[in-house]
Amino acid sequence: MQNQTYLSDPDTDDCPHGMGSPDWCNLCRNSGKPSVYTTGGGMKYHASPSCSALREGQASVDNPEPIKTVVLGSAGVEDRSPCRTCKPTQ
Ligand SMILES: [Zn+2]
Ligand SMILES: [Zn+2]
Repeated sequence: MQNQTYLSDPDTDDCPHGMGSPDWCNLCRNSGKPSVYTTGGGMKYHASPSCSALREGQASVDNPEPIKTVVLGSAGVEDRSPCRTCKPTQ
C-alpha cells in the first residue's frame, strides 16, 4: 500500500485517490475539509462508508449505486441530512 504524505509538491501529476490529475479530484481540491459518504439512492450522508445504515440501504435496493465520497459543504451533500446512525459532523 502506498500511504505517503501527499500534496507536498503542487506540481505532482498523480492524485492519490486515482482520479488522475489533482485538478479533477474533489478530494485533492478540497483537501483539509472533511469528507462524507453518500449513495445515489439515499437522502443522507454518512461519516463512514461502513456505516450500518448505509450498508442496509445498499442492501435494500436491487442495483445499489457505488458509494461516493463527497466533501462536506459541496453540492453533493446539499439536499441531504446527516445519518442518525453514524452522526457525521455538520
Ligand atoms: Zn485526489
Ligand atoms: Zn450512516
